[in-house]
Amino acid sequence: MNKPFQDKLISIEPYTAGEQPKSADIIKLNANENPYPPSPAVQKAIAEFDADILRLYPPMDAAPLRKAIAEYYGIGQECVFAGNGSDDVLAAAFRAFFNSDKPLLYPDITYSFYPVWCDLLKIPYETIPVDEGFNVHVEDYFRDNGGVVLPNPNAPTTIGLGLDAIEELIRHNRDSIVIIDEAYADFSEVSCVPLIKKYDNLVITQTFSKSRSLAGMRVACAIADPYLIGYLDAVKDSYNSYPMDAVAIRAGAAAVGDREYFGQVRGKIIATRECTAKRLRELGFVIPDSSANFLFATHPKRRAEEIFSYLRERGIYIRYFRKPRIDNHLRITVGTDEQMDRLISELESFLGK
Ligand SMILES: *Cc1c(COP(=O)(O)O)cnc(C)c1O
Repeated sequence: MNKPFQDKLISIEPYTAGEQPKSADIIKLNANENPYPPSPAVQKAIAEFDADILRLYPPMDAAPLRKAIAEYYGIGQECVFAGNGSDDVLAAAFRAFFNSDKPLLYPDITYSFYPVWCDLLKIPYETIPVDEGFNVHVEDYFRDNGGVVLPNPNAPTTIGLGLDAIEELIRHNRDSIVIIDEAYADFSEVSCVPLIKKYDNLVITQTFSKSRSLAGMRVACAIADPYLIGYLDAVKDSYNSYPMDAVAIRAGAAAVGDREYFGQVRGKIIATRECTAKRLRELGFVIPDSSANFLFATHPKRRAEEIFSYLRERGIYIRYFRKPRIDNHLRITVGTDEQMDRLISELESFLGK
């Protein structure tokens, strides 16, 4: 329907997130959420929260959370920016750092929010194809550009690059900002946080949604040289000075402070991931080695869309993308061992095993 004021409205195709089921007994493996609860320290921080302080605006820079993150990494607080989920942090970073007429570069298969922000913010971009095995080759990014954004490990392919490759990427782009989106880095062996001391053109974004079980709280950060953090703060203060509420600041700080619980949950998810990958391969699925909390699977004999629908009818939600090059693949979040048992047994029935 076209309104008489149609030409004044934004024309945009928004990001589509994984479906939110209406019923509680659905096994939800479609949004890369954590199957385990947040740290008991988060529960405690929320239980002890005094609602009276909600009269006041929260700390504008979310200082208690920035401090906790800085302590966790052994870096200065001035190297940390905090935001309302990493989608908020990334949107601020795109605004702050990608203001060139030259194209922003990112892989053709990657987080599908990047093109959405580019359209919204009118940032020119160019996608660089990953190879047949979905690998990113950093040499492809050694050219004139307006910036680079790359998730490591990449999504939805689960494939991570080593620190050497990331460093090469940054070194060859000293006149641009390189954003490494570490949404899933906690499930891999690699984080490029140590590189921020060496490279002032590197920005790392991280989220508490996946590895710290806080998707519903909206907590994330960026880590970079203080010079760039200043630009992120300037953008934040130009559209919303208080993106993080008082509860989220406390909960986030409590989560990052509990190293032991974090290590346990991370260990369990990695163990379940490895075991699930092995069992799926035994059923004929082809799966790259995953450095994330999900698997990227294809079956040589059965269509991905068919498998997706079969599981959906049986109460198991996974993610299927009707997109070029990956329309015969499935993205499956690693849940608990029990959830994975259900998944495998439904797939065995489907495949007649
Ligand atoms: C999940 C995800 C994010 C955003 O997570 P938030 O919940 O907004 O913190 C960012 N980048 C990638 C690659 C993701 O998968």
